[in-house]
Amino acid sequence: MNIASAYFAIDEFDEGNLYLDDIKDNILKNGDEESKMRMNSLMGIYTTNHNKKAEAEQHYVTAEKIAKDNQFNSYLISIYENRVRHHKLYNEPEKAKVYKAKLDSLNKVLYSEDKLNNIQKAAVQIELDEYKIQLDKIEKVNQKHQKSLKESKLIVILFIVILVVLLLLLLTLYKNIKLREQANFELTQANEALKEAKEKAEEASQLKSQFVSTITHELRTPLYGVIGITNIILDEHKELGNSPHLKSLKFSAKYLLSLVNDILQINKIEEKRIVLENLIFNLTDEITTIKNSVEYIADKNNDKLSIEIDTAIPEFLIGDKLRLSQIVMNLVSNALKFTKNGEVVIMADLKRVEGKTHFIEFKIKDTGIGIAKEDQEKIFDKFVQIERKEEDYQGTGLGLSIVSRLIELFDSEILLESEENVGTTFMFTIGFEYDEEKSREIINNIDVDLSSSHLYNILVVEDNKINQMVTKKIIQNSNMSCTIVDDGYAALVALDRETFDLVLMDINMPLINGFDTTRKIREKGIKTPIIALTAFDKQEVMEEALAAGMNDIMVKPFEPTKLYQVITNQVKNSENAG
Ligand code: ADP
Repeated sequence: MNIASAYFAIDEFDEGNLYLDDIKDNILKNGDEESKMRMNSLMGIYTTNHNKKAEAEQHYVTAEKIAKDNQFNSYLISIYENRVRHHKLYNEPEKAKVYKAKLDSLNKVLYSEDKLNNIQKAAVQIELDEYKIQLDKIEKVNQKHQKSLKESKLIVILFIVILVVLLLLLLTLYKNIKLREQANFELTQANEALKEAKEKAEEASQLKSQFVSTITHELRTPLYGVIGITNIILDEHKELGNSPHLKSLKFSAKYLLSLVNDILQINKIEEKRIVLENLIFNLTDEITTIKNSVEYIADKNNDKLSIEIDTAIPEFLIGDKLRLSQIVMNLVSNALKFTKNGEVVIMADLKRVEGKTHFIEFKIKDTGIGIAKEDQEKIFDKFVQIERKEEDYQGTGLGLSIVSRLIELFDSEILLESEENVGTTFMFTIGFEYDEEKSREIINNIDVDLSSSHLYNILVVEDNKINQMVTKKIIQNSNMSCTIVDDGYAALVALDRETFDLVLMDINMPLINGFDTTRKIREKGIKTPIIALTAFDKQEVMEEALAAGMNDIMVKPFEPTKLYQVITNQVKNSENAG
């Protein structure tokens, strides 16, 4: 059909038609719409030029119809062109005009369609540009997002790092807490162990002092016997008075007794069981008594012993005269022990007065061997004795430690000045109360006539055979008569049978002790004065003794004169009361 169309374009219609003849029928019958339309259009051209006007118009109509039905608009234009040419050929201008108009309007439509197409293309382009811009924008936003994404990634990483660091910190904190808990636990345990150890130590220390206390008490009773019996032997066998063996027996027993007493005293001071007493005393009297009792040492060592007492010191002072005497006695006997062919002075000076308290400075000064600087602190320790070459004295090494502790009880301290081979001075200051009224009262109370020599009848209640002997001897020597019983029940029987002026009652006895015996005696309504005899410290048993109904206490071993004094006192008191 293309070749035929080409021949028709150069007006060689027959030549062209040759190509159509063979396919004409087949196409018109079986061809598709486009082929049918083209065939009809070509056959229209051919028949137009072979004067077959009607047939030609028939073909144009068919072709036009197919083109219109199928909107083959560009073919419709060529169909209209051929139709215009056809009518012009057959000199039908009116009809040619009709188809020319159709052709023009179609052209117009097609042309505007083109334009429309172009506009549409431009619009699409604009749209495209817009899309591009939008795409750019999106791209930019995207980039921005990408950037912020990067930033947030960094933040996330940072966050993770911080989290890890925090976790590590938490871990170390936890470990620390665990460690501390462990340390705390160990500390608590150590604390507990320490507490236990402390309690044990305290218990041990208490046991120790209890042990010391018991042992020394137990030792004092037999020692009392040894000293007492030695005295009896010396008394009964005057010819043995010069026996060196008996002398050293007495000396050893006395030494042992003083050692035991010292240990007991130190133990008591350490236990804080010593309470200072308030007694009235005359200082000159007390110091003179001490001087007299150590005079024999002074004589032995050829020492001059003197006392210098300030006249400003009141006549009567109130305080613990026994402890004061103990201090001065210790220092003076030391001074005499370590001084040969020299001088020892006991001085007392009123230093100051605060209210009723008179502060008196005591000085015990000697011209003896002195104490080396390096030893001056040591000597106050327990059991310290400085080594000396030509030793001829015996000491326990406890004297100064007792002295310094006793002075501490008086809220004072001991001072020491000493130079080797020049001499030694011990000093201390103690405040004593001075109250005239109080003094007078006390003096009136102790005004006892010791000169009368009554023959008193004494009951001695004592289980220890040796003590029985010793006490009996002392009483008989004092011109008094005595009955001895072994236990409390026997005492009750004796008191029922006989009247006594006074009872000397041992405290520690089998069957029934001294306290209970006294209670039973008092229950019977017997008012006879009862004096307790004990190896214990006075203060320890005082309360119980008084509660049981006893009148006084004598600590064994006692001086015969002291016993005599106490007996006289008590009998006088009970006579006055009766
Ligand atoms: P002791 O029982 O040995 O006398 P002390 O505690 O009383 O024990 O004294 C301790 C030591 O101090 C003595 O051994 C002695 O060496 C020394 N001492 C004490 N007083 C004097 C003194 N007045 N002169 C020289 N030495 C002294």
